[in-house]
Amino acid sequence: MMRTATCGGLTSRNLNETVTLAGWVATRRDHGNLIFIDLRDRWGITQIVFSSDKDAAVHKKAEDLRSEMVIQVTGVVNKRPEGTQNKKIPTGEIDVSVDALEILNTCPTPPFEIGDEYVNEELRLTYRFLDLRRRDMVESLTTRYRMTKIVRDYLDQNQFLEIETPYLTRSTPEGARDFLVPSRLTQGTFYALPQSPQLFKQLLMVAGYDRYFQLARCFRDEDLRSDRQPEHTQIDLEMSFVDKDDVMGLVEGMISDVTEKVLGRKLEKPFRRMPYDEAMSRYGSDKPDLRFGMELFDLTPVFEGANFKIFNEVIQSTGRIRGICFTPPAGTEFSRKNFDDLTEWLKNYGAKGLAWFKVKGDREIESPIAKFFDAERIGRVIDTFAAKPGDIIFMVASDPHISAVALGALRCKLASDYRQIREDAFEIFWVVDFPLFEWSEEDQRYQALHHPFTAPNDEDLLLLDSDPAKVKAKAYDLVLNGTEIGGGSIRIHDMTTQQKIFSILNIGPDEQQNKFGFLLKALSYGAPPHGGLAIGLDRLVTLFLKRESIRDVIAFPKTQKGTCLMTEAPSTVDVKQLKELGIKHSDG
Ligand code: ASP
Repeated sequence: MMRTATCGGLTSRNLNETVTLAGWVATRRDHGNLIFIDLRDRWGITQIVFSSDKDAAVHKKAEDLRSEMVIQVTGVVNKRPEGTQNKKIPTGEIDVSVDALEILNTCPTPPFEIGDEYVNEELRLTYRFLDLRRRDMVESLTTRYRMTKIVRDYLDQNQFLEIETPYLTRSTPEGARDFLVPSRLTQGTFYALPQSPQLFKQLLMVAGYDRYFQLARCFRDEDLRSDRQPEHTQIDLEMSFVDKDDVMGLVEGMISDVTEKVLGRKLEKPFRRMPYDEAMSRYGSDKPDLRFGMELFDLTPVFEGANFKIFNEVIQSTGRIRGICFTPPAGTEFSRKNFDDLTEWLKNYGAKGLAWFKVKGDREIESPIAKFFDAERIGRVIDTFAAKPGDIIFMVASDPHISAVALGALRCKLASDYRQIREDAFEIFWVVDFPLFEWSEEDQRYQALHHPFTAPNDEDLLLLDSDPAKVKAKAYDLVLNGTEIGGGSIRIHDMTTQQKIFSILNIGPDEQQNKFGFLLKALSYGAPPHGGLAIGLDRLVTLFLKRESIRDVIAFPKTQKGTCLMTEAPSTVDVKQLKELGIKHSDG
């Protein structure tokens, strides 16, 4: 045995025991005849002490120790002298006085200090094997493991089977771009890496494997804006003979279990459910952040008939004028430049302009457009928000969707910029009653808001022919602190309805057969009613640990450009490999 204890396990209970430890040299303090080393492993840090009085030869050897060398020591556990104890770590009351030292491996000067908090991320990712030695990375990966273990146990207790589905498969329809893998055996053809196991899990339901789950890797070749990864992990599950409430209830149990065991926080069940229309009109988002207020209000009726051309034009073209009321922190002055910057920023959300009222008094405002409105109208706006002097009312006049989404984004920006978010809150709830389709202006056709296998509400079936935009879906998204952590639906289990949905999505009979023939066939062979959901594991862990980025909870993540700085993937390959695949090599 190379060790008898780990670096995180020894306490006063072990006093006077002779122990052997192995690990990395974290820090070294040389006090002449005493050398103190913090020895680190995955479990923690133990202070070890080399004394020239005890053993001059061992002490001499310890003079050569440098950061990140790997050593093995044997010694006796002692109580640290009063005043030198470290209450912050479990091993802080003891140290180990070393009798024997073995240097197991050396290390050049590391590119950064392992304990250092502010290391450039590129450097961290290039030397990920060193970066992963940092305490908060160990915590991330340990918590991630614990969470998956709790989930597995919960699902196991609820009679789920963990079943793997293929990574080499056909293109799947989550709507993103596929990663392709050329086939050597059938040249000119390609596998696609799955964007999710969606179709396989549905086929497992047809096959009778009621209650499936998998911690599934999903691959999506998207532009990696913000916090995305080309491969992410889902807690993917599917159940048969269930309705929405069954799936949502089961997932509430699972999330509550993890939350209680990992964060010590008991969640109230059932989770709140918010209809999609309410989420959009009150928060301008289908994943509202409820950790702060600043709700949207529709001010269109207040401004009807006022003498302001821009608003009137929007009202006439069935647009909406919506507003939010922001209370700046005491002492913050909003200058013209602040307003101009926000107006410019909002253009990203399609808003052409941003109107604002600075509330001065009961019926009094300061605003470049104040002159267009009488005191009564101004009073009604102020009353809508119960605004107080100092508050700023921001308004966007645009089509119904843009006015909501733009203000929804502004609401989040202001709350974040001015630190108005209750950071300790845990606002988890469902968004339900989504539309089944959304109209794509760009493609001039309907698209599935979730995916094409989502079942429409029974009472809306007749609308499929007359007014598809009005059809609601049996879909549900789970939102935590303004982030969508998962989503799913009851699926279509009847072939004819599935074909109909495909045709509304402009997928003609040939394409249906070509891409989804196997699914349609399976649905015709006795498919049970079924439904499920997937939770984004990386995001969930990130939110639980309040980490900045999902890269901080993934052992070997990719950069925003989809590269791995450590292995330098993706990379060029040998011409020979390409030839075997029947792929022509070109330098140009
Ligand atoms: N396959 C879906 C997704 O990846 C989740 C589901 O509907 O179960 O978003």
